[in-house]
Amino acid sequence: MELFLDDHTKKAIELIRSLGKEYLRPLGIEADTLARAIPPDHPFFQLIASSGYMSRGLGSAQDTATKSKSGDTKNSRPGTWVCNVLIAEEGSYWDRGALVSLPGPGLGGPPVLQMGTLEQQSRFLSVFRQRERPVWAAFAMTEPEAGSDVARIRTNARRDGDEWILNGQKMYSSNSPRAEWVVVFATIDIELGRAGHRAFVVERGTKGFEILRIEHKMGIRAYETASFALDNCRIPYENLLGGENYYSEKGKKGFEGAMSTFNATRPIVAAMGIGIARAAYDIALKFVEEDYPKHAAGRLRKALEQLAAMQRKIMLSRLLCLKAASLLDQGKPNALAASSAKQYAPPMCLEVVEHATDILGEAGIAKDGLLEKLARDVKAIDIVEGTQQIQRRVISKNIISR
Ligand SMILES: Cc1cc2nc3c(=O)[nH]c(=O)nc-3n(C[C@H](O)[C@H](O)[C@H](O)COP(=O)(O)OP(=O)(O)OC[C@H]3O[C@@H](n4cnc5c(N)ncnc54)[C@H](O)[C@@H]3O)c2cc1C
Repeated sequence: MELFLDDHTKKAIELIRSLGKEYLRPLGIEADTLARAIPPDHPFFQLIASSGYMSRGLGSAQDTATKSKSGDTKNSRPGTWVCNVLIAEEGSYWDRGALVSLPGPGLGGPPVLQMGTLEQQSRFLSVFRQRERPVWAAFAMTEPEAGSDVARIRTNARRDGDEWILNGQKMYSSNSPRAEWVVVFATIDIELGRAGHRAFVVERGTKGFEILRIEHKMGIRAYETASFALDNCRIPYENLLGGENYYSEKGKKGFEGAMSTFNATRPIVAAMGIGIARAAYDIALKFVEEDYPKHAAGRLRKALEQLAAMQRKIMLSRLLCLKAASLLDQGKPNALAASSAKQYAPPMCLEVVEHATDILGEAGIAKDGLLEKLARDVKAIDIVEGTQQIQRRVISKNIISR
């Protein structure tokens, strides 16, 4: 689909495409084979840091300072989220795991941008504007007893003078073992339910923060997904995202902050599935064009129908993601569109990978073929940032409230 894109977006897609071919795909395959993440000291990450990639989508430090003076909190560059969605798709076409392993704020960026004060945005995001060393951030909501139902989080935050003390356990937090800081969602009082939710930034080296386990995943192995403990973890009072006022304005603000983060990240994760599906589609298309067995003319018709269905599913999924991102860029509510994209795209992408495997037959499941890896990678997209069932709940709530 031809979109009208500004020069910034075109350049960003071009950059990720060239990185994808040369680095993301080979490094992703290597990580998958070795069943370990790309090490943080890998020279590729240094290259990414020096390219300025880490500050993509953050706006300049000057922008933040100017906005701070004017009181404006909006994103200064139009089209940021559409650009993010397109980058997510293109990068995942080459390797979704390697894309997520890239240094930068990652899932930690949206809550800081959406909930943080301008001072906090400047304090936590400026490290991504330097080009000397690769730096990561992470996001931690999920707990052993709170996955889909984020309202059930039990990690506790207690104020003690100029500090907050955090206690609890988080799991499946992507890139957290190498993160400069992690946005941790916690509750100040379980009895308050969602109104008790707060978001904190826990910085690297904080005493009491301990990585417990790095998961062995079925796919997307190029980045680490880890559990960690917070054991009497003392953090500065100023690390409460948004400050106390943010939460006192309206009861459920902490929870709403988390939800607005999801509204920004769901279209991105959905677009990652599209990238994987596109890679599978290209493999199937090439096979039909170049290697389809001459004696199988009868089966060819079915393969062509499958290719047409794959193409349609990819296009529809992409349109949903772009709609959700475009609404966000315009500052309009996008919960319905974001959940629709996240609910629709991953199962469609799973089907696309399945069709591609059908078309290739035995070659589709060969261990040394890329398709087998894509099939393992794509499943995670269905779970991350809320499963289909959870998206359906959000969608129905939005429909009914109308
Ligand atoms: C690779 C990977 C990376 C991740 N990265 C992060 C990260 O960086 N930070 C982070 O905080 N989390 C992260 N997660 C966690 C992810 O967001 C959770 O796994 C997800 O929210 C689902 O939670 P759960 O695994 O506890 O499943 P559960 O919530 O236990 O759900 C299990 C099943 O029950 C269904 N279900 C649950 N509740 C309902 C309901 N009310 N109605 C109908 N069906 C329901 C679900 O749809 C699902 O099918 C990551 C997960 C993965 C796999």
